[in-house]
Amino acid sequence: MYIEVVLPVPIGGTFTYFVPPEMEAQIVIGGLVQVSFGKTQQHSGIVFAIRESPPAHIGTIKPVLAIESDRPVIRREQGHFWEWIANYYLCSLGEVAKAVLPAGFRSKGEAVFREKKETFVRIASRYEEEAQLLNVLNGMKRAVRQEELLSAFVRETQTEENVFREISKKELLEKSGAAQGTFAALVEKGIFQLYEKAVAHPVTSDTDLQPLHRLNAGQQQALNEIIEIFRQKDVCLLHGVTSSGKTEIYTHLIHQTLQSNKQVLYLLPEIALTVQITERLKKFFGDQLGVYHSGINPRERMEIWNNLLHDEGYQIILGVRSSVFLPFRDLGLIIVDEEHDPSYKQQDPAPRYHARNAAAVLATLHDAKVVLGSATPSIESFYNARIGKYGYVRLDKRFEETELPLILPVDVKELRRKKQMKTIFSPLLLEQIQECIEKGEQILLFQNRRGFAPHLVCRICDWTPKCRFCDISLTYHKKLNQLSCHYCGRSYRLPTQCPDCEQSDLKPAGFGTEKVEEDIQRLFPYVSVDRMDMDTTRTKQSFREIMARFEEKQTQILVGTQMISKGLDFENIGLVGILNADALMNYPDFRAYERAYQLMSQVAGRAGRRKKQGKVILQTSHPDHPLIETILRQNYEAMYEQQMEERELFRYPPLFRLIQIMLRHKKEECLRNAANEYARMLREKLGDRVIGPDKPAVGKVQNYYLQKIVLKIELLASLSALREILEHARTQLLDCADFRYVSIQFDVDPV
Ligand code: ADP
Ligand code: ZN
Ligand code: ZN
Repeated sequence: MYIEVVLPVPIGGTFTYFVPPEMEAQIVIGGLVQVSFGKTQQHSGIVFAIRESPPAHIGTIKPVLAIESDRPVIRREQGHFWEWIANYYLCSLGEVAKAVLPAGFRSKGEAVFREKKETFVRIASRYEEEAQLLNVLNGMKRAVRQEELLSAFVRETQTEENVFREISKKELLEKSGAAQGTFAALVEKGIFQLYEKAVAHPVTSDTDLQPLHRLNAGQQQALNEIIEIFRQKDVCLLHGVTSSGKTEIYTHLIHQTLQSNKQVLYLLPEIALTVQITERLKKFFGDQLGVYHSGINPRERMEIWNNLLHDEGYQIILGVRSSVFLPFRDLGLIIVDEEHDPSYKQQDPAPRYHARNAAAVLATLHDAKVVLGSATPSIESFYNARIGKYGYVRLDKRFEETELPLILPVDVKELRRKKQMKTIFSPLLLEQIQECIEKGEQILLFQNRRGFAPHLVCRICDWTPKCRFCDISLTYHKKLNQLSCHYCGRSYRLPTQCPDCEQSDLKPAGFGTEKVEEDIQRLFPYVSVDRMDMDTTRTKQSFREIMARFEEKQTQILVGTQMISKGLDFENIGLVGILNADALMNYPDFRAYERAYQLMSQVAGRAGRRKKQGKVILQTSHPDHPLIETILRQNYEAMYEQQMEERELFRYPPLFRLIQIMLRHKKEECLRNAANEYARMLREKLGDRVIGPDKPAVGKVQNYYLQKIVLKIELLASLSALREILEHARTQLLDCADFRYVSIQFDVDPV
């Protein structure tokens, strides 16, 4: 018997191994085996296929060393899904496997995929009678600790009928406060007996659950439209303004899906958002809901994996992008909420997949439906709706019928000319803040940069401190009194003088959230100000605390990065300040305007939820820029039309497919040559579809220089033919002695 095995290595598809006859009986597709790879490595691998004869073209075939699991650890459909991911995103099956099975796959020998078991404690049967137990207790006068533990056991487990209830070792130790040693002593004496048991998933009784909210007329109509669309199409875009009740509509769709005994995957872009939605969904669906994200520990992840693999109860999974890889039995519905969010794209390492697009493929494998929800859809999805590939449902009214916020532009260039910008806040913004404070309303101030200032600059010679390992200027963090590189994470001490002119006159240039917080606090010393960005939310706890303080209105002004543009569902926000719209628009990416529109609309949408119309002050140097105009009028279609013109002109998505090729090497010269050579080879086959090579905006990261080549490919072009071309050229390039250590990475549909 021969098998095809997927190994956690960055090359190829599967690898062939020989199965010694005595192991044949334990081989199953989806099982785990231990094999050797190359000269020195050993890996766990997943059995992908079984074959009778070896492939013709290979020489010696190595044997399987051991069986690690004779039961499948993945489901069969998952294998197909992995293959699609590897093919589409130009990576190896092993890279997919590695991303999917992080804990179990890499460790050697240790069987991580066992069911989760717990150790339980019982009294040996000869002591079960009460009289005998008393005897034992009395005999323990000198072992006080043991006596206490035994008493605790009796107290905790004895029910009225004098039957012991089951108790786990963990629970007993917690309740009694006893030490491990005391416990071990009772086991040694044969009084306690231990046994293993798979822990069942606790089930809340149905009576704890609440009925779904009744939808209002507009929501009900939207729901009906979605259901109608699903008769003909697999994907529906739900374009609904913030607070229109998209989440409520999802709950109804979930309910219907569960009724037909199918499962639901509910995707959210970030962990931070799962907290609120979890609470909302638990009320309706109780313990059928499992939550999956990188914030939970490996053991909990394994538990969810096994629960789904063995069908032990979860019917709905709420999770971030990686949950598309879980072993679902039978999906009926996938919800991709905030579908426009760039966090759905995995950047590093491979597979560089987009969870929204992957979800659509996963749905096809399960014959399931997909709802994409957003107040500001991605241009890709809106385009797909326009051409009829997706269905489209619109929800224009907020649930409480609050009007959409009033957005007022402020021309900061003009104000600067008139010397009226004395701080980073315009007079109008300050006036509005004052007014809100007096009315007891809350305020959001949005600036999408953390730290105090994005650069320091020498006043005399314009020198700027940069990271020694990356080609990027360092961000000044004032409270920490250090400079830090937001690419590699290194931090540096503040230079006391400029190394070029030796003067000590370094000034901050630009501003980040830390400065916004400091300045606004100085202007309104009696008002409570808080800040939410990556620096203040390193732990889940601190994130929750900031949210809670704001929710309880202890915080009046919340300063933050894009973190405050998402999910905050609060009722008392009277004003939103967008401090620097220009910074959002001026970065070199064809999606910059789309992003800027989405971010500003999302953060503006936080104003005036429930009851009152809110205000948004938008500070910019170009108040009559066409993009700013679309934001002021909240006219998504106008933004879409503008952007589509450019996309067509410059051959960008959604009309063309982009593939970004990143080459990395420690020596700049060598890298440039390699990139030129690679581009030349590609151009022979692909002509002017090849753009570059160019130095990317950040040309060096972590001491590696970067060169970028972009391919603009027709949507209908064959990806497998393209893969051949790319791989062939890569092999040729790496065959040159000079270029052997150049790394080449592919990113399909880069974001
Ligand atoms: P969206 O997901 O579109 O931003 P939500 O579903 O979060 O909107 O709705 C906004 C708020 O209005 C939430 O607090 C939600 O509970 C409430 N809400 C919306 N629709 C209903 C409804 N039909 N019944 C009760 N509450 C609703
Ligand atoms: Zn200087
Ligand atoms: Zn760096």
